[in-house]
Amino acid sequence: MNNYKFWFVVGSQFLYGPEALAEVEKNGRAIVEGLNNSNNLPFEIIYKTTIKTSTETKEIVSVANSDKNCAGIITFCHTFSPSKMWINGLNLLQKPWLHFHTQFNREIPNEEIDMDYMNLHQSAHGDREHGFIGMRMGIPRKVVFGYWQDEKPQNEIGKWMRAAIGYSFSKNLKVMRFGDNMRDVAVTEGDKIEAQIKLGWEVNTWPVGTLVEYMNAVSETEIDLKLQEYEEKYEIATDDNETVRYQAREEIAIQKILDEEDCKAFSNTFQDLYGMKQLPGLASQNLMAQGYGYGGEGDWKVSAMTAIMKAMTSDLDGGTSFMEDYNYDFTKGLILGSHMLEICPSIAADKPKIEVHELGIGDREPPARLKFEGKAGPAIVASLIDMGGRLRLIVQDIECVKPPQSMPNLPVARVMWQPQPSFTEGTECWIIAGGAHHTVLSYDCDAEMMRDWARMVDIEFVHINKDSTAVELEHDLQLSDLVWNLRC
Ligand code: MN
Repeated sequence: MNNYKFWFVVGSQFLYGPEALAEVEKNGRAIVEGLNNSNNLPFEIIYKTTIKTSTETKEIVSVANSDKNCAGIITFCHTFSPSKMWINGLNLLQKPWLHFHTQFNREIPNEEIDMDYMNLHQSAHGDREHGFIGMRMGIPRKVVFGYWQDEKPQNEIGKWMRAAIGYSFSKNLKVMRFGDNMRDVAVTEGDKIEAQIKLGWEVNTWPVGTLVEYMNAVSETEIDLKLQEYEEKYEIATDDNETVRYQAREEIAIQKILDEEDCKAFSNTFQDLYGMKQLPGLASQNLMAQGYGYGGEGDWKVSAMTAIMKAMTSDLDGGTSFMEDYNYDFTKGLILGSHMLEICPSIAADKPKIEVHELGIGDREPPARLKFEGKAGPAIVASLIDMGGRLRLIVQDIECVKPPQSMPNLPVARVMWQPQPSFTEGTECWIIAGGAHHTVLSYDCDAEMMRDWARMVDIEFVHINKDSTAVELEHDLQLSDLVWNLRC
């Protein structure tokens, strides 16, 4: 991730003479330096060139496309830069694109402004030409407007950068499935061909028996080391050492097979644990904490999204997890989210405890799992669903709270939240949009990042937020259906 850079390309032309072009380049470099020193961008920007001709546009785009460390390009027209000389280059573009509409100077200087100054600093003019061609060509691009030294546009660029990292990660993502989807469940299904065409995911199945062979090959020394890791990270609140060791064996084996196949996400199902004594609980939880995606009941879509959203925010410590909606408290207006076992400890408010309890489903031994409460604070839940012919990403803003009850007999990790705009309206919106019971819950990603990502991969995006109403959402979804059906 750390090798990713973003390329800054300035638009101009030969009309104003070499002195003006030298000034454009100097100012372009100053903007890049200012952005890099702002501490608001998670990745570095590199000044690349100032475009004066169609040939230069094609050249820089071709080089960007083939540079695996280039995660996206940022363009800005310091002067007027006629758009016809951008068309053939932009037609080749395969990287995420941000059009940063800014201006080198914050103010219009009263004494200094003359015709030369006006021509040199005319991004209000040049970026309109640039905006037109982006719109006319229908290339997905993010537009950010603001003064380059201000925090707001810097933060918007930063979020787009995270989405671009998620884009690159998505296009290289391999997902390992152990077993199929849970029998008869609809929302966890999906078109894996469509997912690969749009999102790049290679989703394939490995036999559970192969995983069991890997488990049998794990040494006691490896398990001892994993136990040390558990002791450092978690409170061991059980005497059942063998059960914890069995989870360690599962974790080591799953990680080995994932790494050998270069998979960053996996799914399994309690209906296919042939040869395994326990459903992986602690094992899956500790793998998620290391950045692997996970989805229960064969849900490869949510597994992949968990991995992508973790990759987008791997330098942040708010936390991101596989999640499932379970129960309502109508008196408090809260949703209880959890899973049978597999919630990522990155979202824990306090040190998680390792406990062993019966599991009512799956017909296996009681598994060890991490138990904790989620953090309080703003977060999102995200759900990718297959609409039959297209994919829809639904993101809802939520406010997580400290659970008001201790729920002493609930033996799993739990999170409670109020959906936006309110418990009632927000829940109705979620059901109307077709959001799944499986989601990715993240304190680090926000709706803007996910919208940017959805635009890059060209899928439908639905945002349920503080201003949403069920009536308007239903109408918006009908229009969206029309648009997407015309496009398919
Ligand atoms: Mn589930």
